[in-house]
Amino acid sequence: MTHVNPPSPQRAVIIGAGIAGLACAVRLRAAGFAVTLLERHGTVGGKIRTLPSAAGPIDAGPTVLTMRHVFDDLFAQLGTRVEDHVTLIKQDELARHFWPDGSTLSLHADEERTIGALRTFGGNEAVADFLKFSKRTRQLFSAFDAPMMQAPEPKLAALTKHVLRQPHLIPAMAPLSTLKTLLKRSFRDPRLRQLFGRYATYVGGSPTHAPAILSLIWQAEANGVWVVEGGMHKLTQALGTLLDQHGVETHTGAHVDRIEIQNGHAKAVHLANGTQIPCDVLIHAGDPRALATGALGSGTSHIASQTAKAKRSFSARVLSFAAKPQGPDLAHHNVFFAADATSEFNDLMAGRIPAHPSFYICALDRGHGPHTPQLERFEIITNAPATADTSTEDLSPWLHQITHQMAQHGISFSPTPDTTTITTPQAFAQMFPATQGALYGQTPHGLTAALQRPTARTQIPNLYLAGGGTHPGAGVPMATLSARHAVEAILSDQISTSMSAPTAMPGGMSMG
Ligand SMILES: Cc1cc2nc3c(=O)[nH]c(=O)nc-3n(C[C@H](O)[C@H](O)[C@H](O)COP(=O)(O)OP(=O)(O)OC[C@H]3O[C@@H](n4cnc5c(N)ncnc54)[C@H](O)[C@@H]3O)c2cc1C
Repeated sequence: MTHVNPPSPQRAVIIGAGIAGLACAVRLRAAGFAVTLLERHGTVGGKIRTLPSAAGPIDAGPTVLTMRHVFDDLFAQLGTRVEDHVTLIKQDELARHFWPDGSTLSLHADEERTIGALRTFGGNEAVADFLKFSKRTRQLFSAFDAPMMQAPEPKLAALTKHVLRQPHLIPAMAPLSTLKTLLKRSFRDPRLRQLFGRYATYVGGSPTHAPAILSLIWQAEANGVWVVEGGMHKLTQALGTLLDQHGVETHTGAHVDRIEIQNGHAKAVHLANGTQIPCDVLIHAGDPRALATGALGSGTSHIASQTAKAKRSFSARVLSFAAKPQGPDLAHHNVFFAADATSEFNDLMAGRIPAHPSFYICALDRGHGPHTPQLERFEIITNAPATADTSTEDLSPWLHQITHQMAQHGISFSPTPDTTTITTPQAFAQMFPATQGALYGQTPHGLTAALQRPTARTQIPNLYLAGGGTHPGAGVPMATLSARHAVEAILSDQISTSMSAPTAMPGGMSMG
């Protein structure tokens, strides 16, 4: 390899400063690009957002951080360590579960502790069923990590070959089953079916329609859950600061209205305020459906076209508030199950707000050590369908219903949260363009759903995609991985272009 004088760095523009856009900026900057990051909201973070309260900012988005190695790798790109910027606390207790009959079960990072808890909860049958299920999900997770999640463009043919080389995977995948039927075969205790079925909602699906292979999501959690001290938003804030220090130009309050295409290439983006920003490389890190629906101009409406027609993943109703709790002792992550395991998913599949949902409570200030403040921060999440309907509705009856369900579990909060603390699917739809409020891109239902997502490259050679709506899918670590796929695609395309016509690479790299 010979070196030539570095040219002026190439200009990379990223639309959207959620975790995926931030991760793209880190990787492109590390590769020597001049990076401009454009975000329509007033702060970076995207769905990792907060609402203000008397106890400080409260998360109103994701709370469960898994796959820490993805973030270790990200920060290492800029020669630093995640722990130099945020405090990550590994949780001994993964989640505490409560049923209306008064039974409770904690799952732990230490499998021996989980087994002990399961024995008390459901006897030797529960332990035996769990161990068999866990063995299966471990096998699936390790078998599909490389060819699926880590692969930039997984193809059905390659995956089929991969499976045929290891035929023992076929029964573990249960290719013709839904998650619900697999769980029915796996667990004799209906409470455990309900518990492990909930993992489908982590990618916005229902166990009744999600493929059995999504049982591997549990394994991501079994491999470790971390709490970001102060809240998940500290992670994206830290990335924003790191990018500032490395000379990335971040513009908040910058809504991209249109992508200008010239001679088949993305030439510039146009902001709602009339500013035009030229680019050599462009990454769209918002929902790819925005391109397919023409929200960014007719020149890109052929991109990610499958997202325009595909069904959407679920949304949520989220409450973020500060209060003093009363009732059962809470861990950081708590799930309160509804008495009827099926009615919630029947409602969701019919596009209705569930009449009697299970609900999740994140006690943000717990799991950090012995001290819990007087006034604590809470995030409560219930599943809701995505919706194109943007009309507002009176949320008081729903809040009353949730408060009543919590009271049945013996929980109450002082002061009682009011409707101003609620984020609805309609609000998500308005905040995140073209999503219809869906929090996880297109639906995960169906055996090949994971192969239907758009991948990083598009039909426009210098326009790439990243984010939870693209491969390998939603969730904070997955969206972060999508950024790696996008930037690796950019770099490898640049190398192949320069191999065919030797030119200098960004950041002074050269081929020759
Ligand atoms: C309530 C809730 C709970 C969740 N729980 C978890 C969890 O516990 N664990 C987990 O791993 N995941 C969870 N998730 C999912 C996770 O939050 C997302 O998958 C992830 O944050 C998506 O990141 P992203 O960067 O792809 O997209 P986003 O966060 O949506 O970022 C996209 C950004 O692009 C911006 N943008 C879009 N269009 C434009 C435009 N035209 N111009 C300028 N800017 C634009 C948007 O404003 C946004 O900031 C949860 C999500 C929610 C909402």
